[in-house]
Amino acid sequence: MALLDGGKFMFWLNLGMARDHSGAPVTFTFREELPALDGPDGTVSFLGPVDVEVTVTCVEGQYWLNGTVRGRVELTCARCLKRFEYPFEVALAERYVQGRDRGDAEASCVKGDLVDFTDKVTEGILLALPMRALCHPGCRGLCPECGQMLNEATCDCRTDNIDPRFAALAKLLKPNPKGVE
Ligand SMILES: [Zn+2]
Ligand SMILES: [Zn+2]
Repeated sequence: MALLDGGKFMFWLNLGMARDHSGAPVTFTFREELPALDGPDGTVSFLGPVDVEVTVTCVEGQYWLNGTVRGRVELTCARCLKRFEYPFEVALAERYVQGRDRGDAEASCVKGDLVDFTDKVTEGILLALPMRALCHPGCRGLCPECGQMLNEATCDCRTDNIDPRFAALAKLLKPNPKGVE
């Protein structure tokens, strides 16, 4: 789940700015070209830059991050194996506390004011991608016999493509013209 090229420091927050406007959200926007990600189903490559817009609000020494990540990736259809464009939009919500870990499992503990949240962005994107990506919901996939792309044309093996259990049954039911085995 890491950046393939070693993880550059791309998306960062300055908590000091949020502290200076205590109680009011401070907006951070980014537009970055991300390197390909190592996804659960192979490499995920981006088509164009990724837009990140977040606000950070400082309330009683805690920093609440909220925002969205938008972009487009190229995925492989699980049925027809075509590469296709997949737009995504991911909500981000995080909470940061500074200094010593206070045993608050839901907050990320950070030192200092500069926070790199690149990992949260890439994790969010990978979680938003479908487990079985389809180029469109009605994709008919490939013929298992001849490999024909069934979205584009039909093939002749389609009608013969019977479940082997039914094929055995059909043979039993077929009259034997010669009456011998
Ligand atoms: Zn498809
Ligand atoms: Zn076929």
